[in-house]
Amino acid sequence: MSQHALFSQLPATDRLLREPAFTALCAEFGHTRLVDTLRQMQTAARDEIRAHQRLPEWRDDWAAEARRRLHKDEESALRPVFNLTGTVLHTNLGRAIQAEAAVEAVSRAMRSPVTLEYDLDDAGRGHRDRALAALLCELTGAEDACIVNNNAAAVLLMLAACAQGGEVVVSRGELVEIGGAFRIPDVMRQAGCQLHEVGTTNRTHLKDYRQAIGPETALLMKVHTSNYQISGFTKSVSEEELAQLGAESDIPVVVDLGSGSLVDLTQYGLPAEPMPQRLIAAGVSLVSFSGDKLLGGPQAGIIVGKKGLIARLQSHPLKRALRADKMTLAALEATLRLYRHPEKLVERLPTLRLLTRKPAEIQAQGERLLSLLAPLYPDFELRVEPCLSQIGSGSLPVDRLPGAALTFAPRDGSGSALARLAERWRGAARPVIGRINDGRMWLDLRCLEDEAGLMEMLQS
Ligand SMILES: *Cc1c(COP(=O)(O)O)cnc(C)c1O
Repeated sequence: MSQHALFSQLPATDRLLREPAFTALCAEFGHTRLVDTLRQMQTAARDEIRAHQRLPEWRDDWAAEARRRLHKDEESALRPVFNLTGTVLHTNLGRAIQAEAAVEAVSRAMRSPVTLEYDLDDAGRGHRDRALAALLCELTGAEDACIVNNNAAAVLLMLAACAQGGEVVVSRGELVEIGGAFRIPDVMRQAGCQLHEVGTTNRTHLKDYRQAIGPETALLMKVHTSNYQISGFTKSVSEEELAQLGAESDIPVVVDLGSGSLVDLTQYGLPAEPMPQRLIAAGVSLVSFSGDKLLGGPQAGIIVGKKGLIARLQSHPLKRALRADKMTLAALEATLRLYRHPEKLVERLPTLRLLTRKPAEIQAQGERLLSLLAPLYPDFELRVEPCLSQIGSGSLPVDRLPGAALTFAPRDGSGSALARLAERWRGAARPVIGRINDGRMWLDLRCLEDEAGLMEMLQS
């Protein structure tokens, strides 16, 4: 058939729009999007004719193709996935999943006006961090608290409000890069303060800080080296010692804790992580940490510490720019409340629940899945293997959690079979994200709670 004859077989958009199937699509997706989709299909159809002298695949059913395209376009950019990567707090997958109480609190705050900056007792304007500050003081023993969008913002605000134009003394071993362009020296510059490095990469002594103190010194700062560890011939100054020096010299001491944990993780057999309340008790002036790392709440930056300094943060113009919204505050409040009942914390806080799962339980889960899945994947050899998961988000970088993974080894040993498997799972209604290592696909089961949901994805 000639190109001309093929072109003449393409239906006119106007005619299509009058068909009942398109009237229904128009009602569902709106006129503009439907017409845009049809235009794209017409262009693609003409390209197909010009390039291959044939009509497009959807020649007999333009409505079905339009529906498929419109539905595909509906998919959220934030699609729920199965995180079987073995990293519990995976930054690229949104870090902590929220507790049910936090999810409910956020929906309530979204549906109705709330007392965000409104004090019901004296019917005046309250301050938006007030309710959370009370909770945070109860949990950490601090005098006051301030909440911003994330911990990077918290560090910027602490430096800008407490040290602008002055010097901040930091150990050379703690000039960290967190990733995503967050480097302590750069943040100092942005906050308008001068970095005064002391000590060496591996060893910093109290006398190094003491000798650095002068009329320009505004702050003594410690940064938790969350994402790396220096071992061997090392020395660093404890927060207690630095707080002591700060008190003697009348200079505030601030600590960027990164993750931090409000509960002692060693009671669950997990590696120790510094606790904000211990630093407050040691006399540190301000401590900042993330809401969505080990705390298990929403993305937020939490600063706790001395009343006078928190008041400076609250009244700084940057606080207005960095303040958290009502949904974050609602989720954070609900999450913090869970810490008031530590006995139920493991059950209620997903992050802690996943981190404390027992290897034997994960192994048993792997074996259940193995027996159901092996017949469905004849081209692969399935096995349950011990593996080591990680906490993620720079928390406890060298510590690994023993668990179990379901592995898929292609029987023909080909990398292309693995790549196809990964692609097929990425294309599932709820994508399944594992990792390829050692010629096999690894599904680390530590974060798998919805077993039936996963089975559904892997069966299709
Ligand atoms: C993670 C981290 C930050 C940044 O926290 P966000 O909440 O991701 O902004 C800053 N400092 C340290 C030490 C960290 O570990």
